[in-house]
Amino acid sequence: MQVKTYKPKLNFLTRRGVVWLGQTCNLKCYFCYFRKILDSKNHPEKPFMPLNKAKEIMKILRYIYKNTSVDIQGGEPTIYPEILELVKYCHDIGLKPTLITNAIVLDDLSLVKDYKKQGITDFLISIHALGDIYDNIVGVKGASKRQIKAIENLKKENIPFRYNLVLTKELVSQFKDILYFIKNTEPLVVNFIYYNPFATQENRDRSKIPRYSDYKELLQNAVDFLENLNIEVNIRYFPICILDEKYRKNIYNFHQLPYDHWEWDYLSWSWTTKFNQKTNSPILDEPKVCLPYEIQKYFEYQPIYGNIDLLTSIIYLACNFSKDYIYLLNAKLRAFVHTKYKKGIPCENCSLKYICDGFHGDYARYFGFSEAKPLKLNYTILDPTYYIKNQRKKIIL
Ligand code: SF4
Repeated sequence: MQVKTYKPKLNFLTRRGVVWLGQTCNLKCYFCYFRKILDSKNHPEKPFMPLNKAKEIMKILRYIYKNTSVDIQGGEPTIYPEILELVKYCHDIGLKPTLITNAIVLDDLSLVKDYKKQGITDFLISIHALGDIYDNIVGVKGASKRQIKAIENLKKENIPFRYNLVLTKELVSQFKDILYFIKNTEPLVVNFIYYNPFATQENRDRSKIPRYSDYKELLQNAVDFLENLNIEVNIRYFPICILDEKYRKNIYNFHQLPYDHWEWDYLSWSWTTKFNQKTNSPILDEPKVCLPYEIQKYFEYQPIYGNIDLLTSIIYLACNFSKDYIYLLNAKLRAFVHTKYKKGIPCENCSLKYICDGFHGDYARYFGFSEAKPLKLNYTILDPTYYIKNQRKKIIL
């Protein structure tokens, strides 16, 4: 497979879909968005869906939503019994398959060879930490050792891989070691993802939440270090103003996600995230091919976050009633309604307020907005790609 580095075209919208096969996993990460489902006995989203249903979803992503790649998640997709057949199916219909995985079962080299044979595009591996710290985070002794072996296997077989790291309190003390691990293993891309209060994590334990400022210098040094090694770095769900200007090109929040080709198409994601597309029930919802049905909800919630966003809507409506505008409104729906982000008094006069998600809602409640550093220009930035268009991205051809 060939890898290219490029600067994204303006207003490119991602065509990557996402599918959840069922919330069954071989690890127990405490920060998992689906932790309560994994722990439950009978939650309908827990069991894996049958292969024929998974194939039907893939077909809809490819031919109705026109997606060209897909992130396959479980829970843990490598323990889905028919995963190799599903990977082959995706590959054959032109939906490049990525597995988002802890990768521990890939410590078996023969299995890695099978994935290669079936046409896997790459693996997005959740590494989070090393050694005992990793084992404690994921609740399974020996897991880190198996994961490191798996990464060696992928390198042997020359299969591309990328890393996801959740920014936890535990990782702060190991950050330097993990950067050297990344240097030695050479992934294409590293995503640093703030520990989020999404889905079943909505009541996060305050003592587990790292402060944004604890990560400021660490992340900035990581960008310098890794970009020098030609490794792409993305920082997700992190307030823009916390990092210095030079590093804002790496920050992707809900407003920026649709312009990252590694991220998910809001249109197909809005469909696959619905109950019937995540369970083993025989029913599939009719696919909707436009987002305004979701946006109606955004306008219903307008009073919660006031006229700031209404003004954005009017400006965009007046100048550009385009797909980008629809995605922008969907980003606001996801940030302020679904995941309950908040803006504070410092945000009111910030030039970035229209392209920023703000602070996580529970974070703002616990710690306030004292870390916010509003940007004060004599104009307001309306383009969500204002910073990210200066980043160089990798692509697998
Ligand atoms: S709007 Fe608020 S959180 Fe966002 S960049 Fe400005 S001050 Fe920071």
